[in-house]
Amino acid sequence: MKKMLIAGNWKMNKTVGESVKLVRQILSGLEKHDLQTGVVVCPPFTSLDELSRVLKDNKKVIMGAQNCHYESKGAFTGEISIPMIKQFGCEYIIIGHSERRTFFNETDDIINQKAKAILQSDLSPIICIGETLEERKNEKTYQVLEHQVKTCLRDIQSLFAERIVIAYEPVWAIGTGISATHAQIQDAHEFIKRQLVKIFAKSGNSVPVLYGGSVNDDNARSILELKDVNGALIGGASLKADVFLSIIYTAQALI
Ligand code: PEP
Repeated sequence: MKKMLIAGNWKMNKTVGESVKLVRQILSGLEKHDLQTGVVVCPPFTSLDELSRVLKDNKKVIMGAQNCHYESKGAFTGEISIPMIKQFGCEYIIIGHSERRTFFNETDDIINQKAKAILQSDLSPIICIGETLEERKNEKTYQVLEHQVKTCLRDIQSLFAERIVIAYEPVWAIGTGISATHAQIQDAHEFIKRQLVKIFAKSGNSVPVLYGGSVNDDNARSILELKDVNGALIGGASLKADVFLSIIYTAQALI
């Protein structure tokens, strides 16, 4: 059976009230569905507390956060620690998103520290990797992906592989409306999976590799049915319940 995970990255969108409304709509759309697809919503930190109550006792939608600090506490003004996130029942934390790499100087070494801290806290990192347009044009895509995978996963034992998620998100496809071609996605995923097996041996096969970059309800099917795609990390299209639900139904139909 193909593993499928559909994760919504809400970015800096939705007040608490708007978050509750969106999650209620998602829950209601999934009510009558028997789901083997993992569904994760990653709202802003400010909504985690209220949403933990809305999502309590449901078994279909899991909550995640969009970032964390790798230290558990201390003098890091404006940052949020993993224990602070964990208290709201989050199971996933997105790290290394290209917006964090670009606007907040998050490096592969920092992402590695975050990944280790998340795993030590029994949560799952969704580690984002992907090349820029310039790197693709200069035929550096595979070099970049190899370096990102190796560095982000440095010194992580294979026993943790089953809790790791990789999201392949070509930077040029995020929020642009231009998703990568099917061949580009399949080739990149196959390459990433090969790196994961090099690092974790056969446990590497259990790491889901999601695609992210302008996924919507029109292109989801053709992307999700690609052999090495195990789901999607979705930005803009996760902010509308009907669109997000339609992608979840599509993923479920492909399992
Ligand atoms: C993302 O933010 O991870 C993303 C893939 O965004 P979008 O779906 O809007 O391209």
